[in-house]
Amino acid sequence: MEKNSKSQSRRKFIRNGVRASLLLSLGAVSLSALKKVSGDGYVWQIDPFKCTQCGRCATECVLNPSAVKCIHAFDLCGYCDLCGGYLKPDANSQSTAAENQLCPTAAIERRFIEEPYFEYHIDEDLCIGCAKCVAGCTSFGNGSMHLQIMHHICVDCNECSIARVCPSDAISRVKASEAYNVKGDFTNKPEA
Ligand code: SF4
Ligand code: SF4
Ligand code: SF4
Repeated sequence: MEKNSKSQSRRKFIRNGVRASLLLSLGAVSLSALKKVSGDGYVWQIDPFKCTQCGRCATECVLNPSAVKCIHAFDLCGYCDLCGGYLKPDANSQSTAAENQLCPTAAIERRFIEEPYFEYHIDEDLCIGCAKCVAGCTSFGNGSMHLQIMHHICVDCNECSIARVCPSDAISRVKASEAYNVKGDFTNKPEA
């Protein structure tokens, strides 16, 4: 029992630390986006609650690789050993072996915390926005992995070529001053 509460408080401590660094990185991203779009003050943004993970964010962007990347909402993550966003459904084992990983570019790093918890980090440079992990996470876990157009990468096309083909109308033009529409407790918290 004592061991359990010790585990929980350690897990909470780790989660809070991760959450703080994610907030910082999203804050930095938003600030650079604000600077970049000071002309018209609008940016393209994905509503992760509308996205149906069709995969077109990887193939339809004018940039290659896409300006769309996966973001992980640590507040929603179960830190599962068996992560549907990380492991292929037919994986031989729950290990980090390349053949077991769902991500085609190995952009998700799995870090052991303590039995039975693992933490999943997205390497933005490797992510191509294919949404495979998002679909896996949504169908198996809490849906903590989700897509966003990264404003420090996006060239802010007049007409976003992904928005034109998005089957669920999940991409729209919003004021640059609006926070990223991300999942989790930190959603829409004011920037520092
Ligand atoms: S095109 Fe739309 S539905 Fe498809 S992955 Fe991108 S945001 Fe999601
Ligand atoms: S599965 Fe696709 S969306 Fe997810 S991290 Fe890998 S490249 Fe990015
Ligand atoms: S606005 Fe252009 S660069 Fe940005 S996500 Fe859409 S297609 Fe890609």
